[in-house]
Amino acid sequence: MTTVQTTAPALVHGRSGRIGATDFDVERVRRDFPILREKVHGKPLVYLDSAATSQKPQAVIDAMSRFLLKENANVHRGVHYLAERATDAYEGARSKVQRFLNAEHAEEIIFVRGTTEAINLVAQTYGKTHLGDGDEVLITEMEHHSNIVPWQMLCEQTGARLRVAPINDTGELLLEEFEKLIGPRTRLVAVTHVSNVLGTVNPIRRIVEMAHARGARVLVDGAQAAPHLDIDVQALGCDFYAFSGHKMYGPTGIGVLYGRSELLDAMPPYQGGGDMILSVSFEKTIYNKSPAKFEAGTPNMAGAVGLGAAVDFLGSLNREALVAHEQDVLDYGIRALAEVPGLRLIGTARGKASVISFVLDDVHPHDIGTILDREGIAIRTGHHCAQPLMSRLGVVATARASLACHSTRRDIDALVSGLGKVREIFR
Ligand code: PLP
Repeated sequence: MTTVQTTAPALVHGRSGRIGATDFDVERVRRDFPILREKVHGKPLVYLDSAATSQKPQAVIDAMSRFLLKENANVHRGVHYLAERATDAYEGARSKVQRFLNAEHAEEIIFVRGTTEAINLVAQTYGKTHLGDGDEVLITEMEHHSNIVPWQMLCEQTGARLRVAPINDTGELLLEEFEKLIGPRTRLVAVTHVSNVLGTVNPIRRIVEMAHARGARVLVDGAQAAPHLDIDVQALGCDFYAFSGHKMYGPTGIGVLYGRSELLDAMPPYQGGGDMILSVSFEKTIYNKSPAKFEAGTPNMAGAVGLGAAVDFLGSLNREALVAHEQDVLDYGIRALAEVPGLRLIGTARGKASVISFVLDDVHPHDIGTILDREGIAIRTGHHCAQPLMSRLGVVATARASLACHSTRRDIDALVSGLGKVREIFR
């Protein structure tokens, strides 16, 4: 049996320590998700793939359809009734996200397509204007391709160098090594808040302190954190924070880049087009202020409204009880999977959130996923868009079960029983 340390840091546990998992009414929450009533191959759906994309609560589906049924029009600049309603709904969603992140100003919230676009935006605007030949971008070994490739592209364009901080075998960032890698040429540190493969929760405040002490800016990839952790960008002190709506119960095609206003003000636009300008002539164009400066063209209005509804949905849950509940299912899952003969957990960091990766004997993860699918169980298998991390871990792929607010110990029991079937087939 693999010995695993499942004690999570204070950030993951509830704040007061008084509220526990039993204070969370998961059966009521499950009723909010219509898709959980679906059957797959005649079996009740067991959805353990929320890290890839989350399922949508009725409130999000309703908010989007209400917008399309009753409020749809193009935002900004319109003088008619619907244009004003749509603009209020769109800007209202921005205010909700501002509160969700505890950002100081609404203008610091930029709507983008998702985490990927947010990181590319920073690389191509802030990065291109602040990095030159010999400068450095520091990332970690546990990054998603979205937080690697945009920096590689930037390095190719500017002559800057990509440096990579190592992790240990349990999947924790080696902070001392990390600190040593922040040198006089480090302009930007880009690090994931929660690893999508390992579930490791990184100590962002500490990382920000280290980077700022040496004059480097910090971008946090919050794709896997936003659905699970309380995020306070002012307390974290980060310069940029990126996340995707679809991983936190909102729709696809909408996400957020938070940036500190003084940085955004000094950054050039990302794309040119409508809405990002104050005036245009053939001789000279004057750009708008943030956030409009970074939102060229007609935005994803229904998506923003859906994201606002997702923020409301998360806000309607007792956050402390939710965190305790997710941690309880995670700990239960880690213990249960560690008992499965031949199973090796990948990622056993002390602070973890919502993700359990594993390999099982020499069964290919795709076979595990396919057999589990016949049982109605959805997990993800493959490299999880983290090929350098796979190489570091010495595996080509893993199977990954990932949790959401509606996950239960029953889901874990179904997974364990499904893995029993996998073992029988491959005996
Ligand atoms: N970063 C992490 C840690 C992720 O898990 C993902 C998606 O799985 C992304 C970035 C990219 O998110 P998106 O595809 O929504 O842009």
